[in-house]
Amino acid sequence: MLEKSKKIWMDGKFVDWADANVHILTHTLHYGTGAFEGIRCYRTKKGPAIFRLQEHVDRLFDSCRILNMEMPFTHAQITKAIKDLIKVNKLKECYIRPLVYLGYGAMGLYAKGNPVKVAVAAWPWGAYLGDDGVKNGIRVKVSSFARLHVNVTMVKSKTCGDYVNSTLAKSEAVACGYDEALILDTNGLVSEGTGQNIFIVKDGALMTPPLSSVLEGITRKSIIEMAGKAKIKVCETNFTRDEVYISDEAFFTGTAAEVTPIREVDGRTIGNGKPGPITKKLQTQFFNIVKGGTSAYKSWLTYV
Ligand code: PMP
Repeated sequence: MLEKSKKIWMDGKFVDWADANVHILTHTLHYGTGAFEGIRCYRTKKGPAIFRLQEHVDRLFDSCRILNMEMPFTHAQITKAIKDLIKVNKLKECYIRPLVYLGYGAMGLYAKGNPVKVAVAAWPWGAYLGDDGVKNGIRVKVSSFARLHVNVTMVKSKTCGDYVNSTLAKSEAVACGYDEALILDTNGLVSEGTGQNIFIVKDGALMTPPLSSVLEGITRKSIIEMAGKAKIKVCETNFTRDEVYISDEAFFTGTAAEVTPIREVDGRTIGNGKPGPITKKLQTQFFNIVKGGTSAYKSWLTYV
């Protein structure tokens, strides 16, 4: 169960957590046409700081554009709502979940006239794949489900309904005794996790799948930038599952998952089974940045 906070922002108003309800005929509940974001706010010495807020708000608007849903609020209004929500709830660190959805109205698939509604919730949320996962690495299973093809639905958008694919893959992996799933695209090439991008390390260089089959993760983008500055070569290229098996290191990135090392895939140990030096270096730097421990990359933090 998640840890409740006091208020949720709904269409411009703060409502009590318990009263943040919708009608059962809310269109998005039936068909999944909605968009969401996942954002983290970290505890720093200067108070709560939101990681790459503008990029997340921009991606929320991009998702709506892709889904052809007209956002009834501006970037500035959503940005303010997120900051105010953290203040109202007196949160020191939290996960933030904006959701744009089609409300009650027409029930057919064509629902152009239905109201576009927006909600933002925030609550304390620890390491998504567990503290032990962040420290020692997780065990991953290649999913029997393929990732969404760009002509089936579109991967640049965080569309609610697309996460059926992710929940099926995640449930399968957990049922098989693993922590997380690695999903291949319809050509059999590695794409991403259920809510994470993947990186592998081979001979001192990073590889991550290109954006054609994966969400453009904001953590992915951050890691690529950090690696570039640290003179670590990064290749955005396709690779296969056996290239993951024989990689020296592997890790997932994501807002929820942060930087989580992968220590095993399908029963094959990655490297020596422990987080490798490049993973550890980038992970340490990442946590230092998000917790406000360095003036480098300070533009990535928005203080509440
Ligand atoms: N891929 C998918 C499918 C995701 O849902 C997420 C989480 N938003 C990511 C990758 C990682 O993206 P980010 O680093 O922006 O959280």
